[in-house]
Amino acid sequence: MHAAPFASAWTQALSLLQSRVGPETFDLSIRPICLVEERGGTVSLAAPSRFIKEWFETHYLQALADALEETVGRRLEVHVEVREVQPRADIDDDGLTGADLSPAGNANSIDDPKAGTPETPPRPPAPVRAPRGILDRYRFENFVLGASNELAASAAKAAAENPGQRFNPLFIYGGVGLGKTHLLHAVGNDLHERDPSLRITYISAEHFMNEFVTAVRQNDFDGFRARYRNDCDCLLVDDIQFIAGRDRTMDEFFHVFNALYEAGKQIVVTADCVPAQMKGMEERLTSRLNWGLVADIQAPDLETRLAILYERAARDDVELTQDVAMEIAKSVKSNVRELEGALLRVTAFADLRHRTLDAAFVREVLQIRPEPSKAVTVESIQKAVANYFSIKVSDLKGNRRMRAISRPRMVAMFLSRELTSSSFPEIGMRFGGKDHSTVINACRRIQQLREEDTDVQQALEALRARLDA
Ligand code: ADP
Ligand code: MG
Repeated sequence: MHAAPFASAWTQALSLLQSRVGPETFDLSIRPICLVEERGGTVSLAAPSRFIKEWFETHYLQALADALEETVGRRLEVHVEVREVQPRADIDDDGLTGADLSPAGNANSIDDPKAGTPETPPRPPAPVRAPRGILDRYRFENFVLGASNELAASAAKAAAENPGQRFNPLFIYGGVGLGKTHLLHAVGNDLHERDPSLRITYISAEHFMNEFVTAVRQNDFDGFRARYRNDCDCLLVDDIQFIAGRDRTMDEFFHVFNALYEAGKQIVVTADCVPAQMKGMEERLTSRLNWGLVADIQAPDLETRLAILYERAARDDVELTQDVAMEIAKSVKSNVRELEGALLRVTAFADLRHRTLDAAFVREVLQIRPEPSKAVTVESIQKAVANYFSIKVSDLKGNRRMRAISRPRMVAMFLSRELTSSSFPEIGMRFGGKDHSTVINACRRIQQLREEDTDVQQALEALRARLDA
């Protein structure tokens, strides 16, 4: 088949795929993929990085092959290769990179893959600048992908590939131990490798505040201002919720944000909840944090937890059988740091006691794990929920059916089921003696609302974060 007629089949297949996966996923995971050629029933594609190639292959290759089959009427083989993105000098000229070009519109690449990449004249070597605060060990290469972190990780990668462009600012939020800090450092490392002349700073919001306070006290505000407002190409701020309610620090961060944003510098911020939910955060700040992409990280599913365990085990050179991995992954659900801790604990204990590391041993060791300092109970959930929705605990236990009360009640029942070991009848009892079927229905309803209602999603996230504390 000649390339030109195939281009239109390609375009059709892409739009089919776009309608199936939705525009957001399409932009993140499929648009960066370019068509190289179709020859003898094999379609060759190019991805701008290994990360995007692997991500695409794992999640969307099948769907693309299906869409192509529907368009051309027969099954084609699809191969993806990694092709370097264009040098940054090109980005400045037109604000676009290879990854930004719609694959369908990238007609040049069909006949001649190199046509869109003009030779750039040699430039004097740029200075190498050590990134501030970046930890070497947190990288995209050792960040395990899963549905729970897809959006955040792809957006972080895209921000590192095209800083200051599509996802600026990037705001990543999620519960404790889910990989926010890891992603921030990964952006810093990746960006530094792409362009060592960039001035990159990682800082926790707490550290930012301390530096600011010290600068003010020592009358060295100019130094502080230069460091953050002028001499910075990428600012990575961790746990921004920390500065909520600290007026002067918020004010300073607001100015830093504006200066960097206006200069087109990349800003990535993490927090434990969405901007609007940060109590005590200035409105003008939360609105700016919403300007770019807001991406969540959820607790990893079983498959991702297993993959993380295997990745860690390989890195630490520990042998891990399927049984053992499964046993650990089943027992630690909502926090990757604890998951890694559990792996460390069982391997260390097996060593110390000269025991074989098998599933039974894992159960034994993880059972004697100290309980989390603050056990979550139905009562603590009721209190937190009542507080969050500004209603009374007695309302949760009562029978009033208005939505402002019945929704929180359902949320509280749902969380009780999820976070404690109470049975449905037990939960019913603690909610003013309700029947277990009421609790079951509430849980089902919240499960459903969680998919479609962002208020419910946010409430669940914020409450989980609070109850975990
Ligand atoms: P957070 O900042 O959200 O509290 P961290 O980024 O500190 O969480 O992650 C906690 C630990 O879990 C770190 O050691 C991190 O490397 C690891 N981790 C979290 N998510 C992943 C992942 N998807 N793949 C590999 N390691 C992960
Ligand atoms: Mg963190």
